[in-house]
Amino acid sequence: MVKQAISKLTAYTPELTLAELKQQRGLDKLVRLSANENAFGTSPKVGEALRAWNFTDANRYPDSNVNGLRQLIAARLNIDPATLVFGDGLDEIIQLLSRTLLAPDDEVVLTRPTFSEYALHAAIEGAKLVDVPATDAGETDLDALAAAVTDKTQMIWLCNPNNPTSTYTMRDAIEAFLAKVPERVTVVVDEAYIDFVTAEANPSALALMSKFSNLVVLRTFSKAYGLANFRVGYAVVAPALASTLQTVRLPYNLSSFAEIAAEAAYKDQGFVDQVVQTIAAEREKWTAFLTEQDVTFYEPQANFIFMRIEGAADLAEKLLQNGYLVRTGLGDEWLRISIGKPEDNQAVQQIVSEFLQK
Ligand SMILES: *Cc1c(COP(=O)(O)O)cnc(C)c1O
Repeated sequence: MVKQAISKLTAYTPELTLAELKQQRGLDKLVRLSANENAFGTSPKVGEALRAWNFTDANRYPDSNVNGLRQLIAARLNIDPATLVFGDGLDEIIQLLSRTLLAPDDEVVLTRPTFSEYALHAAIEGAKLVDVPATDAGETDLDALAAAVTDKTQMIWLCNPNNPTSTYTMRDAIEAFLAKVPERVTVVVDEAYIDFVTAEANPSALALMSKFSNLVVLRTFSKAYGLANFRVGYAVVAPALASTLQTVRLPYNLSSFAEIAAEAAYKDQGFVDQVVQTIAAEREKWTAFLTEQDVTFYEPQANFIFMRIEGAADLAEKLLQNGYLVRTGLGDEWLRISIGKPEDNQAVQQIVSEFLQK
């Protein structure tokens, strides 16, 4: 029999492939702005590195320690290589942390709305979710999160910038929050979108690792590095937890292909910087547009914007008919739209403004 905690769950609804959706809707052109992918692709160095791979190694297991990528990242972030744990995307790291830390009836504290995977894996482990609404500005309410901690709290999730709100919490505020949380509670800061932050110069919670042994910081290659298809994410954790996570994780969770791609992407920081700059400039155009149109939105710091528009489902349908897929269903009358190429952002804004004039 399926365990009780799982029997009530429904499966994650993945995106249709672009080809499937195009065919289903009879569209010539379709731009996906629903999954916060990198609209600018990935570094051309990735293709070069993959083409140079020796396919005669295909019968060999990959490097379980992901040592090449591990050394690269540790050197750039100036951290001990042993504090890195790699996953088949951050999705696997979220599962791994939940599986390792949570037992039935433990409590998991998080903000609402946030990334749905945290709640899913808490539920699979039979843990109890304690969700705290975001503020009226869509920001994570750190005081309320701290107040929600009880003797049963095992983990706190902080997604920063948060998905789907795109709002950002300053590093000082996170530091003050960590100082209030008991050391036995693991605080996970998911920095999937940290590269896109312009609100402060050094936004990452990594700088707090030396002060707080219960802090875990997550990063992924799926967003700014444009490698969603290759599934590479990692956690930076205190050494004791790192070795426990190594025990629990699958031994060969990253293929050599994934490692080679991530290494090449990581070395080409110029590509990422260019993407981040373009996204930041486009984000400003978006917020200027929404302000002018008097649309409610949260102050964005990631590569997507969360906005409230009456008739959101109808607007999403209209956008789809015009070849633009956006995300609905994350809040009543709210849309989450990824920031794409300049010409696509402009086209989407044009359709939104026509919709609002009706
Ligand atoms: C996209 C996303 C992830 C998942 O990243 P993968 O590395 O592709 O699994 C994790 N956290 C948040 C908040 C995300 O939006």
